[in-house]
Amino acid sequence: MTIPTEPIGSIPRPLHLIEAVAREGGDDAKLDPLYEDAIRDTVQRFEATGSPVITDGEQRKYHNFWTYCVHGLPNTAPDGFKIPFAAGHTRRMPRLVSGPFRYKRYADSYLDVAKRYAHVPVKQAVISPSALSLMYPADGIPGYSREQFIDDLLNEHETEIRRCLQKGAHKIQIDFTEGRLAMKIDHSGELLTSFIDLNNLALARFSGAERRLIGVHTCPGGDRDSTHSADVDYAELLPSLFELNAGNFYVALAREKDRVRVLEIIRKYRKPEQYVFVGVVAPIDPRIETPEEVRDRVIEASKYIPMDRLGTTDDCGFSPFSDDTSTSRDTAFAKIRARVLGTELAARLIGGR
Ligand SMILES: [Zn+2]
Repeated sequence: MTIPTEPIGSIPRPLHLIEAVAREGGDDAKLDPLYEDAIRDTVQRFEATGSPVITDGEQRKYHNFWTYCVHGLPNTAPDGFKIPFAAGHTRRMPRLVSGPFRYKRYADSYLDVAKRYAHVPVKQAVISPSALSLMYPADGIPGYSREQFIDDLLNEHETEIRRCLQKGAHKIQIDFTEGRLAMKIDHSGELLTSFIDLNNLALARFSGAERRLIGVHTCPGGDRDSTHSADVDYAELLPSLFELNAGNFYVALAREKDRVRVLEIIRKYRKPEQYVFVGVVAPIDPRIETPEEVRDRVIEASKYIPMDRLGTTDDCGFSPFSDDTSTSRDTAFAKIRARVLGTELAARLIGGR
């Protein structure tokens, strides 16, 4: 009997790669061998943790999980939506200045490289349509309506997921960190509702069988050991989150102050067929969890989520932004190992599927 366990995605890049990127820019062909080495090393170390599912550590997602697919587009300007972090810094996304909207790259290109080195299943994270929708300016673009933009955006997102499915991704995880942030920006809930509706339009393009391979990740953000929306009550997000027509949910939970209350909300709003992977290690906490702590968190969660719908995950990626050095690679892999061992301990005690 096992309990499924999966990572979220990013692993801190090797410091020499971060320095080279700072010097040369993320797209310089000179960096290709460095990226390749980083991916090979990440896959090897990931497999050494015992994690039954791995990622490429997003070594090549430049500059981050949010804008990798649009970075370098000629029809953008740098002064787009700002993501404010509690530590005081902001991250900024590009603004679209003209149509049509097209991705510059699709995430399946990362899968190609990872699968060359991997011996176990590889999952792939992609960014949500709702996150990218923030690229369209509030005052519109002459000759390119918001409706045209949304249509192009949904087509590109669907294409990216289909390409990942065709290449045999174990799961496709849609990163939806802006879900919780939406309740901070717009307390009325209108923005969150519009995000859910948009992402459901995208999910409706897939069959039931395909949606069982698609998941959604929610978290309060993670950058330089800081968050953007941990102060938003999960009770404001989770009822809407489970309205998303996806098969799997990857929910940051390890650092929540009152995990039981969150689990009670999950129990109330999770649809019977939906799998929930609860976060059992916290990337932004420098202390490495013990397997026993992880085991106890899994047992706690199993009281609220049926065993045949329960899995474990990390609370978030370990460095969603490529230049984030707040967590070392050693720490990230040690935490992943604790997740794997602790989940196995729990499965021995309470079973699994
Ligand atoms: Zn996250």
